[in-house]
Amino acid sequence: MKNAPQPRIGVLAIQGDYAAHAAALEEAGATPCEVRKPEDLAGLDGLILPGGESTTMLKFLASRGFFLALEKFCGSKPVFGTCAGAILLAREVRNPAQASLRVLDAVVERNAYGRQIDSAILHSATTLPGGPLEMVFIRAPRFAAIGPDVEPLAFRDGSPTLVRQGAVMAATFHPELSSDRRVHRLFVEAVKAARSR
Ligand code: GLN
Repeated sequence: MKNAPQPRIGVLAIQGDYAAHAAALEEAGATPCEVRKPEDLAGLDGLILPGGESTTMLKFLASRGFFLALEKFCGSKPVFGTCAGAILLAREVRNPAQASLRVLDAVVERNAYGRQIDSAILHSATTLPGGPLEMVFIRAPRFAAIGPDVEPLAFRDGSPTLVRQGAVMAATFHPELSSDRRVHRLFVEAVKAARSR
């Protein structure tokens, strides 16, 4: 399939750092498409839910059937949530509890690293080939628990920061803010694999 067109991957663009994700997707060999309304999901091969403020995103998603449209999309196509996006995907959200799409079997705790050290750049262990991964944490959440089908792919102090469950990926850090494209490439490959199925 030498001439297969690049996958078209949406980036939820209602709030947060979606532009950096779009640039990262281009570098990783995909065509990014900004998603601002439910209709924009049509024809996409995958979707990224960016970092930002999950409560603000939820408010937007409450209108025009956006939340339901996303639920449906997540059930049929690969999705990748980073930071606030990971919070939106989790089965359960704590600190405080809030609504979520519940497509990732994980319990996520918001703003889990405390005020003083809530933002940090670390180089830490990953199972991805190529050695330790730079991870940018900004008021980051933490996976308090992950289900048996959830595979941890990177770690901070031994707990998972990047996970995958089937076609769902989630990171508590911001891979789009580092120059290393391994994480976006992994997602683009998952999207390509799902498309050819
Ligand atoms: N603290 C934010 C939230 O709870 C997430 C921060 C981020 O996406 N960088 O939604």
